[in-house]
Amino acid sequence: RRFEEAGLHPVMEENVKLCKYSIPTPIQAYCIPAVLTGRDVVGIAQTGSGKTAAFLIPILSKLMGKAKQLCGPRPSDRNDRVTAEPLVLVVCPTRELACQIFDEARRLCYRTMLRPCVVYGGAPTKNQREQLEKGCDVLIATPGRLMDFMSNVNLLNLSRVKFTVIDEADELLSEGWEDIMEKLFEGGSTNVDGDNTYLMFSATFPRAARKMVREYMEDAVVKIK
Ligand code: AMP
Repeated sequence: RRFEEAGLHPVMEENVKLCKYSIPTPIQAYCIPAVLTGRDVVGIAQTGSGKTAAFLIPILSKLMGKAKQLCGPRPSDRNDRVTAEPLVLVVCPTRELACQIFDEARRLCYRTMLRPCVVYGGAPTKNQREQLEKGCDVLIATPGRLMDFMSNVNLLNLSRVKFTVIDEADELLSEGWEDIMEKLFEGGSTNVDGDNTYLMFSATFPRAARKMVREYMEDAVVKIK
């Protein structure tokens, strides 16, 4: 199967070509149609499997058709500040991974109104805050910095999130981030329309991750390798 057969938004088809992807990897072949039809997905997949594009391609493709109506506020001039109201929230354990996901999101959002942003710990907050204040539709975050920014509702409002992606869930769990993951599942990132899609990716599938899937993603389709 090729990407052309997936029924993607035409701009996404172009952006996939610019990334020089022609054949979907197995996790993409599974995940893209599932997300396009509105399913929650659990993917047991390693780094290198193409898992980032597996979630970004269908999510962003779905939003592209409605970006004009859905995109969050934009500053009216250079000095204006807005509240970031992302439609997509991706949580992952490390700064390196967050930046890789951000790079891929930037390439896949090319020539659209969708604005990706990345926030992570171990760096000053000032520049990241200024990025959010310019408006954000796709937020990629490590959990600690996400919590810091979430406590300021004038800066970051998660009530419009439609797609929540937990990436490298096993790593997040082993680092003790269970509470924030549960908080996101329990409504911390549920939009007012209640049409939230949840995705979880993990290299391994430990008991704590299975429990979370049972509890919060009971109708999810699960792809194990
Ligand atoms: P990931 O598993 O998301 O870290 O991706 C691993 C690498 O594979 C990244 O450098 C991607 O740019 C690349 N990649 C993702 N999907 C494809 C594809 N369908 N064809 C070729 N390369 C890809």
